[in-house]
Amino acid sequence: MGDHQTAQPDVTAFPGAVVQCLHPDGSPAEVLLEKRIELPTPVGVLVPQYQPEDPRRQRVQPVELHPGGRLKALSLQEKAVIETPVGPMAAERVTFHPGGQLRRVFPLDGKISAYWSVENETALAGPQRMETPIGVVSARIISVHFFPSGALRSVTLWPGERVTIATPQGPASVSVGFSFHESGALRSFEPDAPFEAATPVGTVLAFDTDPEGGMAADLNSLQFDEAGNVTALTTATDKVVVTCKAVADAVPDGNGADGNGPNEIGAGGAGTNAWPACCPDCARWAAATGKQVRQPGRLALGPGFRESLCGTTPTDLVPLRMGFTDDAVSLDGHAFSRAGHGFSVLRGLMPVARTTYSC
Ligand SMILES: [Zn+2]
Repeated sequence: MGDHQTAQPDVTAFPGAVVQCLHPDGSPAEVLLEKRIELPTPVGVLVPQYQPEDPRRQRVQPVELHPGGRLKALSLQEKAVIETPVGPMAAERVTFHPGGQLRRVFPLDGKISAYWSVENETALAGPQRMETPIGVVSARIISVHFFPSGALRSVTLWPGERVTIATPQGPASVSVGFSFHESGALRSFEPDAPFEAATPVGTVLAFDTDPEGGMAADLNSLQFDEAGNVTALTTATDKVVVTCKAVADAVPDGNGADGNGPNEIGAGGAGTNAWPACCPDCARWAAATGKQVRQPGRLALGPGFRESLCGTTPTDLVPLRMGFTDDAVSLDGHAFSRAGHGFSVLRGLMPVARTTYSC
């Protein structure tokens, strides 16, 4: 693969091709086909969709082009098997990088509607075998994503699908998806159940109750650097107690705020036992959150709650997002230097389940 891009034909020149939409530079962006054509592409000759298929694909998807005319995306009238860097794959939709290299492959391209349910489409989804950098994985998938180099970038699993993969911290049951660094090292995955992750602050149960909320498809909540160290995770159960060395030094026996211990979620509101934040990190945290340090030099940050989106239950759990660099630990985006703080993990006891929105 890779050197075919110069041979890409002008799709607008085929009989039955109707340009629907232009790029700002005037080149065609979307071309609707009204007749069957056999289109040479970087992954072989494919038949783009040209007639509706009831009830699965009632609207014909146009062929999409990059500015300048190279293929960007096409849905196929006839399912094809194409050669990919992870092996042969079934394809109903493929996309390409601007340079012509294969970008994404979708084995199924049915559109969910009043006449075609998720269950209908799921019944068509079969396991796809993929030769990945962490071994052969067979799973029902929505899509795979490749870097322009051909390296596997990510696998997006079918809703409800779970698969066990090899990770830098042992085998893990994964749902939603997993992704790779371009070198082939695992970059992230979405734990299907609370996963004991070794981190610079100790073992944390990594589990995101709402994994699609906010994370890009190529970056799942438990993340690793190329050496296999955890760089980020989401926990729905555990809290982190931050001990500020600046305050600990200033108040050697500092424990004057009994009753506001670390078992509280968050570090309390504007109470009467507020202590000044003695280091820049703690001061930034206090300024950003509007909270005050109620026990000298100690903050406990954990999952929180917000008003439910559905209104059927009073609150939704908001997991704690943790990040790790050589110099700092960040908790929900607030960085605390490792030189100036100690950290310990409090294992939560509450059971957790994935957030499901029924509304
Ligand atoms: Zn501090």
